[in-house]
Amino acid sequence: MSGKGKLAIYWAASCGGCEIAILGINEKILDVAEHFDLVFCPCIADGKVSDVEAMADGAIDLCLFNGSIRTSEQEYMAQLMRRKAKVLVAFGSCAGEGCIPGLANLTNREEIFASSYLDSPSTVNPDGVVPQTKSEVDGCTLHLPLFYDTVRTLAQTVQVDYFLPGCPPEPERIWDTLVAVLENKLPEPGSVIGSNTTVCDECKRVRAEKSIPAFKRTWEILPDPETCLLEQGLVCCGVATRAGCGALCPQVNSPCIGCYGPNDGVEDFGARMISALASVLESNDPEEIEQALRTGIPDPLGNFYRFSLPGSLMRRSPLSNGEKEVSAKPDLAAAHPGGGV
Ligand code: SF4
Ligand code: SF4
Ligand code: SF4
Repeated sequence: MSGKGKLAIYWAASCGGCEIAILGINEKILDVAEHFDLVFCPCIADGKVSDVEAMADGAIDLCLFNGSIRTSEQEYMAQLMRRKAKVLVAFGSCAGEGCIPGLANLTNREEIFASSYLDSPSTVNPDGVVPQTKSEVDGCTLHLPLFYDTVRTLAQTVQVDYFLPGCPPEPERIWDTLVAVLENKLPEPGSVIGSNTTVCDECKRVRAEKSIPAFKRTWEILPDPETCLLEQGLVCCGVATRAGCGALCPQVNSPCIGCYGPNDGVEDFGARMISALASVLESNDPEEIEQALRTGIPDPLGNFYRFSLPGSLMRRSPLSNGEKEVSAKPDLAAAHPGGGV
């Protein structure tokens, strides 16, 4: 990139932790300010969607887009940032795989509205009002985004150039990404920025290829600080998780829960983990293996799809309302004049 670049940082269905992770690059943030103008970042600076709409297509050099796609507004913004950015990065696990917001794919819009606006013990809503996309108030029409049944990843919505995994990505990897953009050293489009090894490859714990009789919950044992946690019976996802964090969690005696997602070639993180766990059990008997998995891992969905349900082969649980899925409107720009942000 020649000259000063234009940087946008946008959030959709996200917790904001990815933005905070950017501050983890510490004093290098001054280098970012030296090399980029921050042209749009609703998290920290006022900015209007209409300003972005007015930019020429491709005017933004780099957009770090965090958060998954839950509403029509987020879908519109994904499309807008795709048009305006030369390089669009799915920044963090929410954008890359769906992450924690994606666990809502275990339910649907109707059930979420019922628990949020009708059924919770602290709710007083005698008229049963739930959010509408249009409301007439004092002669004016107010618009709210359409809330979809299904959370999607950024790549299930628009074409993504690069993926930066992690919940959130480690500051060193964020810095690597910015440097790669500045120095025109980005990898093949469509690839994950970072290592293709696993957390196990970064982990210093001793592995003895030992089989185990059963799995244990973290509260059941005080793990030995030197030995592989999996070989002590704890469900450590390092074996299926992309490297990049420096094996942070095992370093502090805590199993990896897989926030960097799977490494290349793994289509479904949960399936890979179940196969890896079955292979460390002492028993070869399918019934005993199933029993060990059932008793030792009471919440397999939470364990294995905490970060990746929308991006997994399952994507969501079957819709139980028997109705057509509430999803994108064909003309989002018309539905969101000015973006509505
Ligand atoms: S990836 Fe993690 S830190 Fe980033 S927005 Fe999602 S939940 Fe927050
Ligand atoms: S399974 Fe976990 S504890 Fe064992 S080597 Fe891999 S990352 Fe380390
Ligand atoms: S050890 Fe696993 S869960 Fe912990 S930060 Fe690294 S990838 Fe994420």
